[in-house]
Amino acid sequence: MTARIIDGKAVAAELRAAVAGRVATLGYRPGLVVVLVGDDPASAVYVRNKDRAAHGAGFESRTIRLPAATSEAELLAVIAGLNDDPQTDGILVQLPLPRHIATAAIIRAIDPAKDVDGFHPENVAALALGAPRLVPCTPRGVMRLLEVSGTPVAGRRAVVVGRSNIVGRPMAALLLSADATVTIAHSRTRDIAAECRRAEILIAAVGRAEMVKAEWIGPGATVIDVGINRTEAGTLVGDVDYQAAREVAGAITPVPGGVGPMTIACLLENTLEAAIARRSR
Ligand code: NAP
Repeated sequence: MTARIIDGKAVAAELRAAVAGRVATLGYRPGLVVVLVGDDPASAVYVRNKDRAAHGAGFESRTIRLPAATSEAELLAVIAGLNDDPQTDGILVQLPLPRHIATAAIIRAIDPAKDVDGFHPENVAALALGAPRLVPCTPRGVMRLLEVSGTPVAGRRAVVVGRSNIVGRPMAALLLSADATVTIAHSRTRDIAAECRRAEILIAAVGRAEMVKAEWIGPGATVIDVGINRTEAGTLVGDVDYQAAREVAGAITPVPGGVGPMTIACLLENTLEAAIARRSR
């Protein structure tokens, strides 16, 4: 069997166009502010892409760039200002932050109604309680890919490899909310290959190049590869051994061009929803 390729780039383009269409009918431009502290080159690229996509969808988007030496108190003051600003609907603090700043304190300071990353404890709790509000963008994007690829979720065995707060945990919570039977595998899981083989839906969010082998995949499973890893040769690969996995899986996302583009599209969707919810209060 050769797997169907789930084209995240195309799905993301459709989603961005749909968001732009809704923005055009609002009568105002939703405001997204990205805060970037320091000069991490990868973060700078992510922020530029988010800003470009936000402008493309008709948002009022700006980036606040702060020096690496910014203190926690200074960053908290910037966030307080954005919380109070009626034109700001979404606030995203690009991670990772410099070490001297406590990330948890910064996330807690963001107004949960403007927390378009979905990382604030109130939003995390809402998701864990099965009543999601603003949901982290990458897992939200994965759910959309499952939907458009025609993968049934309810009642299916789903395995999420990885338990980070950004991807693995919210991913598992969303799958559970969608009535999957969910297993979370991680670095202490005893026989990870056997756990993965049982999956009808396998989500890899590990950050280890091509760790998930074809033998780990059940025939016909839908495989979603969240991983983004740069090889020594400079190419991007996922957490799944894509070429071999294609021969076993029923459907699979490529890297690049799978989950990656969905993350930004879902950020736009979150910002639009945050704007509508807040401005209609
Ligand atoms: P992370 O915070 O480093 O978490 C990695 C998880 O994988 C941890 O839970 C860890 O387990 C687990 N893990 C590590 N080695 C393992 C092993 N050998 N066997 C089983 N589990 C193992 O990473 P993350 O932020 O979730 O990101 C995961 C990947 O997704 C990265 O490649 C990242 O670049 C990518 N990513 C992509 C997007 C996108 O838009 N496409 C967005 C976010 C992240 P323990 O908890 O036991 O340590």
